[in-house]
Amino acid sequence: MINRERISEEFARMASISSPSFREAPMSEYLVKRFSAMGAEVRFDQAGPSAGSSASNLIARFPANGKDSEPLMLSAHMDTVEPADNVVPLLEDGVFRSAADTVLGADDKAGLAEIIEALEVVREQNIPCGPVEVVVTICEEVGLLGAKLLDLSMVEAKRGLALDTSGVDLVIHRAPCANKMRFEIIGREAHAGIAPETGLSAIQVAARGIARMALGRIDEETTANIGLIQGGQATNIVPRSVVLEGEARCHNPEKLARQTEHMRTCLEEAARELATEIGGQQVQAQISCEVMADYPVMNVARSAGIIGLLEQASANLGRPLDVKAAGGGSDANIFNSHGIETVILGTGMSKVHTVEEFVRVDDMVRVAGLLVEVIRLA
Ligand SMILES: [Zn+2]
Repeated sequence: MINRERISEEFARMASISSPSFREAPMSEYLVKRFSAMGAEVRFDQAGPSAGSSASNLIARFPANGKDSEPLMLSAHMDTVEPADNVVPLLEDGVFRSAADTVLGADDKAGLAEIIEALEVVREQNIPCGPVEVVVTICEEVGLLGAKLLDLSMVEAKRGLALDTSGVDLVIHRAPCANKMRFEIIGREAHAGIAPETGLSAIQVAARGIARMALGRIDEETTANIGLIQGGQATNIVPRSVVLEGEARCHNPEKLARQTEHMRTCLEEAARELATEIGGQQVQAQISCEVMADYPVMNVARSAGIIGLLEQASANLGRPLDVKAAGGGSDANIFNSHGIETVILGTGMSKVHTVEEFVRVDDMVRVAGLLVEVIRLA
């Protein structure tokens, strides 16, 4: 049923179009032609300028074919991580890899190729189905910018699939929410050799605060990290300022708030402990903390209709389906927060975000086959 050659060629064509985040225009120009030629009504929203990208989110609407069901959203992102200039996809023994020192871009072009092939098959075989809305976002890899800016008035679907994770026969229905944090610790500078007693080391306060923090895997649904540290000027200066950047993720929003607060409190306690008297005055390091909500929690009920649909489609094809939770945020977190019940479907892409990225044609064929069945049943 699935045309192996066609999906291979489709993938190779898209992989060859360089589309790192913010520079997706050539990819969006290709997609608008491709989807229009397949009979879709294609529109763009206005996300591009706000995201700082050369392209906007693309919404391609495929009309129903004799079936009066609710629209189904199929989504993927058109951007890739870098290095992504002049990608040359190589097909060897049924596996696509990049020939040069770039990513392959199977994240997320494998998902796009699977969506396109499934819709080709549906059209070719005149399979009765309801309306399908393909939503292709920009700037997913740089903070889900496209999904966050998506013009929801252009999307009718209230249920969907985001094709954007490794693995096959795999569904992700839960993902954590996340906060990003930026802490600034301001002490007092002084000559480290001549008058150290007139200084208050921001580095020492930061170090003591970090040492107190619970970081890493906190429990089965929480992780936390301080990933960047910057401060000081020279070995002979008691450092005045340090900036720390970190994150926390959790499947439970309240617990996420507690972990975030814990990290701030550790620094404040360290500041209090290291407060000192300078020239008859009590001096304490100042801690400022900026918390940025990165993405909201995704928690699609195990009993949700969209999961039932995937299970039925897999069963019809005699395949297993693994439904589980994941540790990262993606466009699906945002779609769910906007009331589009969305789960993530494995595309077969592997070793993503590295130059060793690859995808097997067999896996793309398999996922496209599942999509055809999903569209038929939807
Ligand atoms: Zn991705």
